[in-house]
Amino acid sequence: MKAHGTNLPVDPKRISDTIKGLARITEPDRPYTRRAFTPLFLEGRAFLEQQFKSAGLETRIDAAGNLIGRRKGRRSGLGTIMLGSHSDTVPEGGRFDGIAGVATALEVAQALSDGDVRLDHDLEIVDFLAEEVSIFGVSCIGSRGMAGLIPDGWLSRTQGDLTLRQGIVEAGGDPSRLAGQKRSDIRAFLELHIEQGPVLETETCDIGVVNAIAGITRIEILVEGQADHAGTTPMGARRDALVAASRLVVAIEKLAIEYSRGEGHFTATVGEFSIEPNAANVVPSRARLLIDARAELRPDMDRFIREVSELAEWTAQATGIGVTPPKIISDNQPTPGDPLVLRLLDTACEATGASHRRMASGAGHDTAWMARITRSAMIFVACREGRSHTPDEWAETDDIALGAAVLLHAVIQLDAELQKPIQETV
Ligand SMILES: [Zn+2]
Repeated sequence: MKAHGTNLPVDPKRISDTIKGLARITEPDRPYTRRAFTPLFLEGRAFLEQQFKSAGLETRIDAAGNLIGRRKGRRSGLGTIMLGSHSDTVPEGGRFDGIAGVATALEVAQALSDGDVRLDHDLEIVDFLAEEVSIFGVSCIGSRGMAGLIPDGWLSRTQGDLTLRQGIVEAGGDPSRLAGQKRSDIRAFLELHIEQGPVLETETCDIGVVNAIAGITRIEILVEGQADHAGTTPMGARRDALVAASRLVVAIEKLAIEYSRGEGHFTATVGEFSIEPNAANVVPSRARLLIDARAELRPDMDRFIREVSELAEWTAQATGIGVTPPKIISDNQPTPGDPLVLRLLDTACEATGASHRRMASGAGHDTAWMARITRSAMIFVACREGRSHTPDEWAETDDIALGAAVLLHAVIQLDAELQKPIQETV
């Protein structure tokens, strides 16, 4: 098996054909747009299903509306190794975000088939439903569904006349089978994705082996001043909520810069900001800010939350303006990559001659949900100027193909390693 694995070639042209084929299925006036829960998305799905079938895979749609292609292993009782990503896009998105992961997963299956290599485990290729924030205001529907983690109440979310429940049915899923159901046969999950940041390109590095997907915490702060006439209230007699909030924004940035120089990936952004009454001749009475903070290491986030609370208190004291204690709106833990899978990915990079580095993902991915039910890890390939979620998004076919070769190598090694008594090494 080992000898096969290292020598099996991947075919860059096939990968690029899949990517181009999907790129043609877009809203014509708004490339590249293939939103989940639209007829175009289903058209993309039909194209992919055809590709899966041509690669000799048995296809099906699972309860959560994920498209799955399966290649049976020699010893099916061992369980499944799964690879994949998503084919939906944001509005005016790119050709590679998610799609590169589906195309390379498919290429791994094709290369195994070409080489007549049958794994012991079953191999499944997946196109997850609706990874991007969908019309229902939520993301990663397919991967959450596969992990049995779609929260109660989500299925009745509506957009116009459509419920999420109906949307999943239209994608071929069966929401009635979702509640509490999770796949228990998956032994490992791997996802290739474009980096969506500039690090790999800047360092001329082929592959990012993703140590962890950052946890995301959203924190709301309200600042309560007093509305007064902007022309008659003396400068020294105001309680201007915006001025106090601005101090906070600048202090939060300073704090985040400090954290970002530490060991783990860290960002914090005041991405939402509003004031009342928002009128030219009125001293602002109220400001609301929403912080999006992302940390690879949870202790950093815990400390950041504490320090933001202190900042809020300090701002209130320094300005005499009311600042509410920061309120945590949502809080997701970081997702560390599985040590065994990470180790095999490093080895696969070395075996395929790919330069590689460990890095964190600041963006969320389906892998974060799959990691709740199985050993999981991701790899990144470079994208031009780090740009993503734009029609300008670009990744070189050769870079993606090298990523496919790394996945292929890792899958073959995993097939063997998962059958050994596992020794955890970090
Ligand atoms: Zn993506």
